[in-house]
Order: sequence, then structure tokens, then C-alpha cells
Amino acid sequence: MATASSSGDSSRGQSGTVMITGASSGVGLYAAKALAARGWHVVMACRDVEKARAAARSLAIPDSSLTHLQVDLGDLDSVRRLVEAFHSTGLSLDALVCNAAVYKPRLKQPERSPQGYEISMATNHFGHFLLIHALLDDLKKSGHPSRRLVILGTVTANSKELGGKIPIPAPADLGDLSGFEAGFKAPISMASGKAFKPGKAYKDSKLCNMITTQELHRRLHDSTGIIFSSLYPGCVADTPLFRNTPKAFQTIFPWFQKTITGGYVSQELAGERVAQVVADSGFAVSGAHWSWGNRQKKNGQQFIQELSEKASDPDTAAKTWDLSKKLVGLA
Ligand code: NAP
Repeated sequence: MATASSSGDSSRGQSGTVMITGASSGVGLYAAKALAARGWHVVMACRDVEKARAAARSLAIPDSSLTHLQVDLGDLDSVRRLVEAFHSTGLSLDALVCNAAVYKPRLKQPERSPQGYEISMATNHFGHFLLIHALLDDLKKSGHPSRRLVILGTVTANSKELGGKIPIPAPADLGDLSGFEAGFKAPISMASGKAFKPGKAYKDSKLCNMITTQELHRRLHDSTGIIFSSLYPGCVADTPLFRNTPKAFQTIFPWFQKTITGGYVSQELAGERVAQVVADSGFAVSGAHWSWGNRQKKNGQQFIQELSEKASDPDTAAKTWDLSKKLVGLA
């Protein structure tokens, strides 16, 4: 396995082994490509391994840079099996990218995970929350000089930004977390315990992703040295994330982001941004939420985006952490 920087460019840091969830398409796939090009060995943790292999081949990512492992992040048992399978490879772990997500804004009724949880929260938050806890010791043991855990956040879950204030169907809001507290099983489908809104379920799960990053930083950065960060890579309006939106939306949304808001980012650039947050020395800031802005500028630089009170409040974060631990069977 490569350990030296492939580029000789010290800003690109030392390479190592990174696990990326949901690397079979979109941002995760292009992040795998960008990291493999930097000399990293990439563990593609994907729902459909054959799809992941074909996707990697389509971008000419060398087979020798990849290990393929299967996981359904919506199923906590499958996450446990992924961790076992990873341990049996004997690989070390120097970075973890929590990237996989589902967005199902047209569901009329909540879809449930095998454990009975609403599917967006189960996949995007609980699956990753369990995975992070199960792999923390691996990150602690790594001899890499800059071990990192990176979580994909989004603008629509950060009410400090315009995109996070959009009331359709409602801004991200975990309320008093009474839905989590009550066990989060049917008929409960939202963290707040309020009525099911599928688009908001996605935003709430991404809010949990950003809260998790902040809480990991508060609890574990000083004692472990691991760098915990999240990012908004830009609006990658043409990934399969939007496959469950109306067909007209899938045409209009990329056009709107390209020509009206200027927020559009290609999958390749979004993947490169993830790779930078994982590997480059300029991103070694724990607790940071990285952004390149909502209007993309040529050669625009990254900055640390302020998070909303909902994402940064330590009391909400501590409660979200404790309840999530219970719901994934860790407490
Ligand atoms: P995408 O192309 O749909 O990628 C999502 C990935 O997650 C796919 O590989 C998908 O696998 C995987 N996945 C879904 N459910 C899974 C499950 N149960 N178990 C394992 N893997 C599962 O979407 P994307 O746009 O690249 O999104 C990647 C990340 O970027 C997400 O966290 C998203 O919230 C974030 N993000 C995206 C945008 C954007 O504009 N697109 C903006 C901000 C943040 P399958 O191929 O099997 O479906």
C-alpha cells in the first residue's frame, strides 16, 4: 500500500487508506478517483459492489488502488458486517468519509429500515453514526500524521445560509428530539416527533451529520488528535441523489443552478473538494465546516462556513449524540 505522497506536493499530504461510503456514484465516486490519483488506497463501501466496480472502471480508477466492501447503511446489522469485513482485510484506516445518502422527497409514507427507523435518518445518520464508532479505534491506531474523519453536510441543513432557510417543505429542525427519545419507531418518523415530511427528513438527517462532526470534535479531537470536519461541496445538481424527484425537477434544477444561482458544481470538482478535505494540509482543522460558497467563482477558495445554532449548540449536540447511541445499540 502506498504511504508516500504520489504528487510530491507537500500540500497534498501523505497518502494512506481511506474508506468512502456510497462511492458507487456522484461525489463519492469522484472523491475515490481524486484520492486514488493522489496515491491513496480507497475502500469503496457500497450497497452494490458490482455497480461500484463498474463505476470505478468507467473512470479508469486502477483496480490496485481499490478494495470493494458491501454495506447497506440503512441496516445496522449490515454496518456491523462491513466493520468485520474491513477488519478481515488487515488494512489500516487513516481516513473515513461518510458520504452515502438517500433523498426521497416524494414518499407519502415513511419507508422503514430493518430496525424500523425512518429510512433517510437510518441511512444518512444512524448507519454512519454506528460506523464511525465502530471504526474510531482503527483511526486512533493509524500511524498517519493527519488522520481525518470527513462527513458530507449540506447547505439546506444550515440556516446560517440562504439555502438553509428555504421553507419547502420546512427548514431542518430536530425540535426537542422527542421523536428520538420515544424510540423513533412507527408511528414516529421525525426526530422532533412531529408529522412526516420526507424532504425535511433528509435535511434533518444532514443536520445530524453536521452535529455529529461538531460533537466528535468536542469530545474526541484533543484526546485522539483525529481531525473531524464536514463540508458542503457545492450544488452538484446532476447526481443520482435527485433520482427520486420529479423528472421536470431533474432537468430544471441543474439548469437553474448553472444559469441563475451560479451554485452548480460538477461531480468531478465536488469529488476533488472531498479529496482536499481528506488529504491536503490546508484542511487540517478539526471542527471546521468547509465551503466554497453558494455562488461558485472561478478558482474560488475554501473557507470555514459558520454553522447555525441548530448545528452548533452543544446541548442539542450532546442530546443528539446520547440518543443516537441508544438508537444504534451502543448505550
Ligand atoms: P449519489 O450520487 O446519489 O450518491 C449517493 C451514494 O450513496 C450512492 O453511492 C448510493 O449507492 C449510496 N447509498 C444510498 N443508500 C445507501 C445505502 N443504504 N447503503 C449504502 N450506500 C447507499 O449522491 P451525491 O449527490 O453524490 O451525494 C453524496 C453526498 O453528498 C451525500 O451525503 C449528499 O447529502 C451530499 N451532498 C450532495 C449535494 C448535491 O448537490 N448532490 C450537495 C451537498 C451535499 P447506490 O448507487 O447503491 O444508490
